[in-house]
Amino acid sequence: MSITTTDKQYVANTYGRFPVEIVSGKGEILTDSNGKNYIDLGSGIAVNTFGACDTEWVQAVNTQINKIQHTSNLYYTEPCASLAKMLCEKTGMKKVFFSNSGAEANECAIKCARKYSFDKYGENRNKIITLVNSFHGRTVTTLSATGQDSFHTDFMPFTEGFEYAYANDIESVKEKVNGACAVMFECVQGEGGVNALDKDFVLALKKLADENDLLLICDEVQTGNARTGKLYAYMHYGITPDIVSTAKGLAGGLPLGATMFNEKTENVLTAGKHGSTFGGNPVCCAAAISVLSRLDEKLLNEVTEKAEYIKSELSGAKGVKSISGMGLMIGIETERDNKEIIAECMENGVLVLSAKTKVRLLPPLNISKENLQKAIKILKEAISNV
Ligand SMILES: *Cc1c(COP(=O)(O)O)cnc(C)c1O
Repeated sequence: MSITTTDKQYVANTYGRFPVEIVSGKGEILTDSNGKNYIDLGSGIAVNTFGACDTEWVQAVNTQINKIQHTSNLYYTEPCASLAKMLCEKTGMKKVFFSNSGAEANECAIKCARKYSFDKYGENRNKIITLVNSFHGRTVTTLSATGQDSFHTDFMPFTEGFEYAYANDIESVKEKVNGACAVMFECVQGEGGVNALDKDFVLALKKLADENDLLLICDEVQTGNARTGKLYAYMHYGITPDIVSTAKGLAGGLPLGATMFNEKTENVLTAGKHGSTFGGNPVCCAAAISVLSRLDEKLLNEVTEKAEYIKSELSGAKGVKSISGMGLMIGIETERDNKEIIAECMENGVLVLSAKTKVRLLPPLNISKENLQKAIKILKEAISNV
């Protein structure tokens, strides 16, 4: 049986997979079961920060896995403590809770926001405002938080207490403030179509939050960990959130979620109020320490330069309607159907993603200029083929 046949028979049918079996990779090059190579402009959806099997990253993982692979959160481990310290020092946040995914990082943020308000104001001030077109995860609660009607079917009843305002429309947020304890948003909506929030809107959110003691929750699951050219995307906006959630690229390919708290929220969750068996796993934390230690000024500048290169190549190119996003999180609105473009790129050895009707690029941050140029040439040809 081929991988595909076995998968189709035995793996739950929740994914529409492309007809490609990935078997190995190195950096931005992935190899399939026929030995065909692809330049990867997707990073496993912004997860493989330094591409596949990066030497330094593999070494960090190997070193830790040879010491201890897991303990439990009943005991202290060095990678977990060191990573939390590193995240706090790099962001100014005060404490971190570790989990295993983006949805869980958001669940923790939601629990913290509700408890903050319950402790201070009692019941009935528990609503969380999120934005239309957002994406916050696949658990029943984070689906509720997701501001897209298409996600609110099949699994009723959903968690109560979420209301959806419009991005870049502060009046629509103001209308919902009564009974609210927090506002949760992505600085750049990823799954929703790679749309960055306006700076004015984010600053107005901050002001509204200050006036009403609403917590600002920044979902940096996709935008975080240098993806947008800053360590976290909120840093582009000159605000400091009360809670920051991240995951995807944090551990460079291993499952790790983090929810960071500032001075307002650091002591809300106390012993027994939240937990995770795998959360803060020492191998995942060691991987994240290795990733974070490389996300320095030089790398951030490299991300910005590569993003500018991609935008300059594509803006005004035949078949390109518009370009959106920030750093190496890029959405391309095209005249040609994005599915056709993705298929043609794949045929020609380049992997790109979609976001709604756009083509989405999330390349490894350290992709070589040479392979980036090659891949963009192939992408441009596919886009222009209208
Ligand atoms: C991917 C994503 C999530 C969900 O992350 P999982 O690890 O799949 O649970 C949540 N929020 C945003 C913004 C995301 O991009």
